[in-house]
Amino acid sequence: MVTRLYTHPIFLEHITPPGHPERPDRLRAIGRVLDDEAFAALDRAEAPEGDEATILYAHPQEFVERVRALMPDTGIARVDADTTASPKSWQAAVTAIGAANAAVDDVFRGDVANVFVAARPPGHHAEKTTSMGFCLFNTAAIAARYAQRQHQAERVAIVDWDVHHGNGTQDIFWDDPSVLYCSTHQMPLYPGTGAVSETGAGNIVNAPLAPQTGSEVFRDAFLSRILPALDNFAPDLIIISAGFDAHHRDPLAEINLTEDDFDWATGQLMQRAGRHSDNRLVSLLEGGYDLQGLAFSVAAHVGRLMKG
Ligand SMILES: [Zn+2]
Repeated sequence: MVTRLYTHPIFLEHITPPGHPERPDRLRAIGRVLDDEAFAALDRAEAPEGDEATILYAHPQEFVERVRALMPDTGIARVDADTTASPKSWQAAVTAIGAANAAVDDVFRGDVANVFVAARPPGHHAEKTTSMGFCLFNTAAIAARYAQRQHQAERVAIVDWDVHHGNGTQDIFWDDPSVLYCSTHQMPLYPGTGAVSETGAGNIVNAPLAPQTGSEVFRDAFLSRILPALDNFAPDLIIISAGFDAHHRDPLAEINLTEDDFDWATGQLMQRAGRHSDNRLVSLLEGGYDLQGLAFSVAAHVGRLMKG
């Protein structure tokens, strides 16, 4: 059983303004590191064209049309204070959704051991009716609902270790106990949500981390909060919102993780997927803005996924 990697050239054509941290070079850095001999056994697949109708699994039609209308014919259009769109952004976002949904298909069919999706734009800040924080649509949320509708998954867990709280994912599943949302994130930090007291229908587990903390506090949050919640929930599928901006090199936050921490957390989630989900685990790239920190972290993450 192999680990599959989905990516697509269209993800390089979502162009952001000069100096914007969420840039195509992120995927080029990931591509370079995964070209190493150590990853020769990866099953590399081109992301399929996404099905726009699945966006409606997490967002209302009116909102989808509003986003579509913002897409420019040339240049770069502003979507919110720090979110922009270029002419190919729509296609990139829909293909990212196609890749995530295909990854769900793959693990439910048992075709592969697990899947990493290297796509952009990211998704976890996109709320039901708001694109924000570099995100147009919430890819992880759509994939979770896709698993429920297309594969009869009853319970899906989304574990989000991006350094920013996934306010969008929390918003979408706030009153939906069929999806468990667990997040470690720096607090205070953008977008400002993610307090321990935000628990939704008892299905939201927020584990905020203080600035300048690192490995020990992060692993303790997993061991004391997130892994027990997963064991209690017993998901049919685990989706990772895999942002790597809690790496100590990252310029957008002040959490001091190393690639070893992402290796460790990946292993812990694989163990839970083995225990509860027949090993079904799909990992979706979210943030990560220092190219070296991102590349090393993805290498550790995917390397662990490949160990099965
Ligand atoms: Zn982030």
